[in-house]
Amino acid sequence: MLDSVRSHLGAKIFLSYLAIIVVGLLVLTAGSQFALPSSFDRHMLRMMGAMPRLTPGMGMRLGQPAPGDLDSRAQFFLDYRASFNDALKVAGAAALSAALLLSLFLSRSVTEPVQAVSRAAQRIAAGHYDERVPVRGADELSQLASRFNDMAAKLDEVESMRRRLIADVSHELRTPLTAIQGSLEGLIDGVLPASVETYEQIHTEAQRLKRLVDDLQDLSRVEAQAFELQRRPVDVPSLAHTVIKRLAPVATSRGIRLELEPLPELPRLAGDEDRLLQVLSNLTSNALQYTPAGGTVALSARRAAGEVHISVRDTGVGIAPEHMPRIFDRFYRIDTSRSRQAGGGSGIGLTIARALAEAHGGRIWVESGGQGQGSKFTVALPFTE
Ligand code: ADP
Repeated sequence: MLDSVRSHLGAKIFLSYLAIIVVGLLVLTAGSQFALPSSFDRHMLRMMGAMPRLTPGMGMRLGQPAPGDLDSRAQFFLDYRASFNDALKVAGAAALSAALLLSLFLSRSVTEPVQAVSRAAQRIAAGHYDERVPVRGADELSQLASRFNDMAAKLDEVESMRRRLIADVSHELRTPLTAIQGSLEGLIDGVLPASVETYEQIHTEAQRLKRLVDDLQDLSRVEAQAFELQRRPVDVPSLAHTVIKRLAPVATSRGIRLELEPLPELPRLAGDEDRLLQVLSNLTSNALQYTPAGGTVALSARRAAGEVHISVRDTGVGIAPEHMPRIFDRFYRIDTSRSRQAGGGSGIGLTIARALAEAHGGRIWVESGGQGQGSKFTVALPFTE
């Protein structure tokens, strides 16, 4: 019994209400029994003070009661107390029942939301991530329910992201693998000639596979924050020059002008040079990928409140507004086939770039006038002078 009380919040609340009711009734009874005689005397004296005028001839005067009066007053008091106690019992029983019902209702109003949260937690633990609890009112219990729902929604999101990730990764792996398998089968069956082109095709797909696996490894490290930034003072102009130098051959081969806009005086950043290079190279090679021949890709940098903004602007295909919010999501590609043809990756590059910028305490965003209007990606990195 004691154990079940200890383990049930409802029983605890109910018993505490009951204790309050019982103590209240005891105090009411004791108090009334204690106060009754003096209150009776007071009222009797007041009554008797009025009586001689009402019943002249009985020889009753205030302060001098007749001998027989004392007995009848005592009897009157006993009768009065008995009737008072009778009334007290009835009223006490009515108050007790009303209070019991009310405390049952109140204790249930506390335990029910708690039980609902507990049931929902059990269902979520069993894998039903869509489980939510009703939120009524704005008290602490409703806040608990609302926080619980927030947590459940987050879990739901993480779970669906995990599912999507597995589906995406298998899809991404399947495409080059199928191509390699197809080419090899063609070679075995003699359908495909054992030519340089066939081997080059297989090699390209194998390279794509390798790049995907490398990207995935990078992504998992970046997302788990399982890498350490080797922070050193980084000079922004030399960073930009390195990117230009690295990607100039690609730009030339694609017939795109790759340029560095004149840079103002800039503070040094406390960052990991290799990682920052990775971010800018990614943005620049994307710009080169999604810009047709004859276009321009330009790097620029400027100082803004406590930050250095480094931008990569292109005159390429641009990004429609509906894609903007999702462009940094993993595996998100605007046009899968176009991205592949353009030699694009699996839609992980920007996710990694964003995670790296954020690891530096920075941000990354994109602006574009829409399709065909070019794009401008900006990385904002904080600096301390
Ligand atoms: P990917 O490896 O496929 O390029 P990213 O994460 O780097 O993956 O980019 C995601 C998608 O964003 C790309 O598939 C492309 O559709 C779009 N994108 C990225 N950079 C640009 C750009 N400069 N201009 C237009 N679209 C871009």
